[in-house]
Amino acid sequence: MVFEQVGAPLRAVEREVPSPGPNQMLVKVSACGICRTDLHLLDGEVRIEQPPRILGHQIVGRTVPGDQRVGIPWLGWTCGRCRLCRSGRENLCPQARFTGCDIDGGFAEWTLADARFCFPIPDGYPDEQAAPLLCAGLIGHRALRMCGHASTIGLYGFGASAHIVIQVACHEGRTVYAFTREGDAEAQSFALELGARWAGSSEQQPPEELDAAIVFAPVGALVPLALRALAPGGTVVCAGIHMSDIPSFPYELLWHERAVRSVANLTRRDGHEFLALAPEVPVATHVSTYALEQANEALADLRAGSFTGAAVVVP
Ligand SMILES: [Zn+2]
Ligand SMILES: [Zn+2]
Repeated sequence: MVFEQVGAPLRAVEREVPSPGPNQMLVKVSACGICRTDLHLLDGEVRIEQPPRILGHQIVGRTVPGDQRVGIPWLGWTCGRCRLCRSGRENLCPQARFTGCDIDGGFAEWTLADARFCFPIPDGYPDEQAAPLLCAGLIGHRALRMCGHASTIGLYGFGASAHIVIQVACHEGRTVYAFTREGDAEAQSFALELGARWAGSSEQQPPEELDAAIVFAPVGALVPLALRALAPGGTVVCAGIHMSDIPSFPYELLWHERAVRSVANLTRRDGHEFLALAPEVPVATHVSTYALEQANEALADLRAGSFTGAAVVVP
């Protein structure tokens, strides 16, 4: 399922099975998660430099030959030499190449991946349940780490990432408050089922001050709302790759050492850490499955918010 241009649906095309280059493996795709970033790519909010491109960056598949189960994440390649790569911040490498954006991804039957950027998938997770761990899970994990020792955490936007983060946060003994679009009773009851102490609309004040908030929804107006809910010294972590403009707000909301920061991409270390942690929690992913040819329908359902949890396409 190929991206050809901004604003157009993905198109089903037949291609030759690709041949691996140096450091690459041929992988038969078993499942590929969809992500809000895919919508930003479709809409041109995150640019694809060289279309046509196969999207999809939460890939679980098996190597051919070898039959090893691997996970292929968003971070597809880094230079390994720049100041950022050499200081444990390869997620910020200016030459980084991303799966399903700069490199063909997993909305396909076959893909190629650089073996150095793949992860083994923990046993016990079926392919479809494992796929959302690879971006929703990993980015959520990185965002949660940026909340430090926060004991009360607000999650703004309760989609694929939040439904994983809440399980980890509760496991760590933190208290979670879930914020959704006004009237989204389904997402709110899903959050309560997964352990949220409280769920409400983003405009509401939570019953207690938050030590940290993670904003998953791509809505800049949520940043001042989240700041308003923070305790002194608290942090708002923006976890998406794209967000609408953040409206201006009184300095008073930032005063008392409150902070706003973003999370960008992932490092391989995040991947190994999180995939070791997930079965310990254990994180259970709630997944809706679509056939590969239904990728456009899956993306439309993501945009409409018509499923809870995560979604994957299966060739
Ligand atoms: Zn993603
Ligand atoms: Zn680099």
